[in-house]
Amino acid sequence: MAFLEISTLKKSFGANQVVKHFDLKVERGEFITLLGPSGCGKTTVLRMVAGFEMPTSGSISMDGKDVTALAPNQRNVGMVFQAYALFPNMTIAENIGFGLKIAKRPASEIAARVKQMLDMIKLPQIADRYPFQLSGGQQQRVALARAIAVQPKILLLDEPLSALDAKIRVSLRDEIRVLQQQLGITTLFVTHDQEEALSMSDRIVVMSEGRMEQVGTPFEIYNFPKTRFVSSFVGTLNFLTGKVVDAAAGRILVDGQEVITNRGLEGASNGDTRSLALRPEAVTLGQGGENRNTLHGKIELVSFLGSIVRIRVRFDKNLVTLDTFNTSSAKPPQMGEEVTVSFGHDDLQPLEEA
Ligand code: ADP
Ligand code: MG
Repeated sequence: MAFLEISTLKKSFGANQVVKHFDLKVERGEFITLLGPSGCGKTTVLRMVAGFEMPTSGSISMDGKDVTALAPNQRNVGMVFQAYALFPNMTIAENIGFGLKIAKRPASEIAARVKQMLDMIKLPQIADRYPFQLSGGQQQRVALARAIAVQPKILLLDEPLSALDAKIRVSLRDEIRVLQQQLGITTLFVTHDQEEALSMSDRIVVMSEGRMEQVGTPFEIYNFPKTRFVSSFVGTLNFLTGKVVDAAAGRILVDGQEVITNRGLEGASNGDTRSLALRPEAVTLGQGGENRNTLHGKIELVSFLGSIVRIRVRFDKNLVTLDTFNTSSAKPPQMGEEVTVSFGHDDLQPLEEA
């Protein structure tokens, strides 16, 4: 049995079904991210794991024990929220020691644990300060320390970095990941930021409208998205749509020009319309060679971005965007210019839907 098992979880608020289906097995020590746009049900899933919301149906087990009907304080989870939820009238030490005090641990143990936690978040000097005296990044580190202080079985982080400045966000990202690895603590992290998800996670669950779209490692999600939703959410800019000519051979007709994918068109029949995702960095200007697709089109947009020049090439209904390097010696591409672009047979990712 996996350390955390979430089985056929559903949640409705009145007639509004906000979690339609959620099924996940998490191994001990894994860092899992729920990634999806605002309103897709991420927080609701997390709150059900924490015990703040009761599922409409389905079950949750932790460390071999069914916790579905248990109250939050019986589950041994630690949670950090987006907005700094520190107690404003308590010192930092009191904040971090709060859970242990509730659990009626002896004062000497609490003091030792608070000190250990402050060292862990590299803020040993702030025990007697109050939350308002700290920066946003410091407050979130304290919130993290408070959640970890009780040695929870599972750490739940709900967009803990979203309210912070970009620079702090990136450094805290690394800090959280390093800590999580050192402590080996099983973690569910929620974010709408794909870069955060890709950089921190062992596995990502991409969610859309209360459903799981895809579960996979960052490598799998980025390179092998199964749906247009996942693909666009992790930043693919190009989609080609065409008619399958020979499914077994991966041949597709895009605006009258044939391309090949060797990623497998299983499930497609000849004559079907299918879409394929294509990363901009996989596309180059100029004729392709062996195992490469070549398409002819016309440049319809050139955007000078400094070190790179982004161009958009239209075939007919389909178009691709690609980046070229700006070199002061070469003449930049011009709008209206007829060009050839190429990309590998293994760069075309077939999507499940048309
Ligand atoms: P996310 O965290 O992905 O932004 P949420 O889980 O917060 O999404 O919300 C999903 C949907 O559930 C939203 O439409 C939200 O309005 C609704 N919702 C969340 N909590 C409640 C609640 N307590 N009562 C009614 N509707 C809710
Ligand atoms: Mg949320």
